[in-house]
Amino acid sequence: MASGSVPPPLLASARLTVDLSALADNWRTLAALAPGAETAAVVKANAYGIGADRAIRALTAAGCRTFFVATPEEGGEARVHDALAAVYILDGLPPGGARTFAGLALRPVLGSMAEINEWATWKRGGGAGDCAIHIDTGMNRLGLTPDETRALAAEPGLVAALKPAVVMTHLASADTPASPMNEAQRARFEALAALFPGVPRSMANSAGILLGPPYQFALTRPGIMLYGARGAEGRPPLKPVVTAEACILRLRDVPAGATVGYGATQSMARPSRLATLGAGYADGYLRSAGSSNGRAGAHVLIGGRRAPLVGRVSMDLMVADVTDIAEAREGDWAELFGPNLPIDDVAAAAGTIAYELLTGLGRRGANRYLGGPGG
Ligand SMILES: *Cc1c(COP(=O)(O)O)cnc(C)c1O
Repeated sequence: MASGSVPPPLLASARLTVDLSALADNWRTLAALAPGAETAAVVKANAYGIGADRAIRALTAAGCRTFFVATPEEGGEARVHDALAAVYILDGLPPGGARTFAGLALRPVLGSMAEINEWATWKRGGGAGDCAIHIDTGMNRLGLTPDETRALAAEPGLVAALKPAVVMTHLASADTPASPMNEAQRARFEALAALFPGVPRSMANSAGILLGPPYQFALTRPGIMLYGARGAEGRPPLKPVVTAEACILRLRDVPAGATVGYGATQSMARPSRLATLGAGYADGYLRSAGSSNGRAGAHVLIGGRRAPLVGRVSMDLMVADVTDIAEAREGDWAELFGPNLPIDDVAAAAGTIAYELLTGLGRRGANRYLGGPGG
């Protein structure tokens, strides 16, 4: 993708390209891995940074009928883009929020007795709306404790008032298949969910789907893999969704011993050619992806070859060592991550995960969308 033949749109020096067809294909791939379940889509945090509006419309066109977001604000936005979908709010029901939730047909994921009572009061007073019940089986963030779950189940009138559409929990270690935590949580969930007979169950995030049918239940909730990250060794066969690129603004030849960037943390061991790229941490790239003497950073792709970042990443700029890439030219685009440079590798080189890299993107730059309904 790094090619001097692509003119910079709007004269931008950094750009993000989002492939909505790849997003839809990833949703179908994950749906096919859990044929016995409905496959929802988690589109919290602006669809992991790629743009919730476009993502929701593309996923709806692909057949997705259920969305999960974190906050009521995100839910309201999702509702604008899909009038008919089931939209669940993972953060639960804020005090006094029942009327607003019902007005937008947002479904609270009820995770405390206070929320349960608030929603039950609303329903008993003739209010409309669906909800989910969240059982905590090991995350210790949100959700009813096992004791609270049993206490709720012991009040059939309360459960009948809620009439939950889903009972769910969340895996702590799904991306570590060998962790005994997975089976422990699954067993806990089976036992507690059985107290709500006939209510559809949901447990699996992206990695949870790969744990197999015992973890898939009635409804899966993939997020990160929809956006093309966190597949391991081609399993499942995900397509890259996001391509981040930065333009080479300047090429500069420096002698051995020259230092690069703030703090002069990286000195060049040999006479070097440096490429200054027009993106930095203000664009959502990770400052921790830079290098210092004795610590390698991330790579970028220039002319189809990997070039290491050298020195600290600045607010708007970063520098790559292109000494061995003779064809690099000012005006060329460097791929920061994308089809040829996995986002997971870049995140790992910066000491983090693709989730953090993705959700920080798009604060700046000319976004382009490929594919999807209505372009
Ligand atoms: C974010 C989230 C998901 C999606 O997780 P991924 O690892 O991105 O697939 C699913 N369920 C809950 C409760 C979440 O908070």
